[in-house]
Amino acid sequence: MAKVSPMEIYRLLPGTNCKECGEVSCMAFASALIERKRTIEDCHPLLDEKYRDKRKKLEAILTPPVKEIVIGSGSKAVKIGGEEVMYRHELTYFNPTALFFDVHDEMSSDEISERITRIDHFIITRIGQDLRLNGVAIRSRSGDPTKFGEVVLSVMERTDLPLAICALDPELLEIALEIAVDRRPLIYAATRDNWEKVGKLALDHKCPLVASSPGDMQGLLDLSQDLLDMGLSELVLDIGSYPLGDRYGQMLENLAALRRMAIERNLNLVGFPLIGVPMVAWQIEKDDVKASMMEATLAATQMLRYCDILILHSLETWSILPILTLRQNIYTDPRVPIQVDPGVYTIGNPDEESPVLMTTNFALTYYTVAADLEASKVDCHLIVVDTEGLAVEPAMAGGKLTASLVKDVIVSSKVKDLVKHRKIIIPGMAARISGEIEEATGWEVMVGPLDSSRIGGYLDQNWTVS
Ligand code: SF4
Repeated sequence: MAKVSPMEIYRLLPGTNCKECGEVSCMAFASALIERKRTIEDCHPLLDEKYRDKRKKLEAILTPPVKEIVIGSGSKAVKIGGEEVMYRHELTYFNPTALFFDVHDEMSSDEISERITRIDHFIITRIGQDLRLNGVAIRSRSGDPTKFGEVVLSVMERTDLPLAICALDPELLEIALEIAVDRRPLIYAATRDNWEKVGKLALDHKCPLVASSPGDMQGLLDLSQDLLDMGLSELVLDIGSYPLGDRYGQMLENLAALRRMAIERNLNLVGFPLIGVPMVAWQIEKDDVKASMMEATLAATQMLRYCDILILHSLETWSILPILTLRQNIYTDPRVPIQVDPGVYTIGNPDEESPVLMTTNFALTYYTVAADLEASKVDCHLIVVDTEGLAVEPAMAGGKLTASLVKDVIVSSKVKDLVKHRKIIIPGMAARISGEIEEATGWEVMVGPLDSSRIGGYLDQNWTVS
């Protein structure tokens, strides 16, 4: 979908404001369609035959230039692609890069089991969000169809995560697809040598397919065209992965060019998600630590250059953490600050003599303060003021942290019922409005440190209830 206004969408809707879709008006529904909070099917009147042409136009307008592809089935299925802009600030990115981790058919059963457990249960909580891994890439290394089939089956028995089936031999892929077809795996890969047979497998099994032409842009365009001509419509493009040398720079340029052709020139041929395979680092570097570092670096740059799915090997936390952190930052909606709900939060096991502290509802501020309080083993009540998702300093500068808002949250949270004192500790950066808060709330205001990591020491020296 090129950037489109709610008015353009509205003109194609019935315009009766009947509210059947759950929105208050057709214009509100138009905005919800753009935000992907609703789908065309939610407007039942639009299904009437008399709106057929308008519905078709709407479908065309709302189809993103980078096709959205679903890998997997059930609640853990992952969506990739579906992007509409080159730069996040132009709108937002919708589907975070999916991270798949490999197992292969020469690993022992114990090793596969250990890796699957790690992939399945890996979780890091950051700024209130649970960051997880998305899938398992099953590779054939032995070239033995029976062995490959057994490993596919054993992975499926251990996890319901989405799968990628990785082999270049159509015979191996066919065996694996017969077993895993209900899981709608991603097939890796069709190449110039095998595309007719592998393309037919993807068609017959209705699975998304990677078109792979490492380092050869024209070859990739031709391959994509051939697969589309066969009737395939769910492709993922692979222009190759190179961790070092001249090919590294060329790879990044090619990735950006593919995305630009899709979004700015609306070229259907390349309007598909992009895949990177950072685990190629392990073919070059034999030292595990260096290979993990090289892989993480390649993953980061490929993600920054629009890769919608990555296949990795290292399951070291120190290697995965920067990739997850980068992904979280890139795929945060720039129009919506990450916020927590205003109100009162419990830290530790506070009682009626415990301190009441205040902060703002910018999620990073809240979780930093909460983590510092927990690390200092402080039991307290933490009041969170609605500053529209701003941290303390910009909220002060922008007039979004006011005495009146502090009063509102003190009243609405009923914190006065939780403590017998009437003292509130505000952040050092909000010192300027301490007098106004006292006046508005009637509470005694204590000005805390500038840095929340010092709150523990501050309380040791200053907190008494008398
Ligand atoms: S259901 Fe359709 S016609 Fe009715 S309000 Fe929603 S968008 Fe408008």
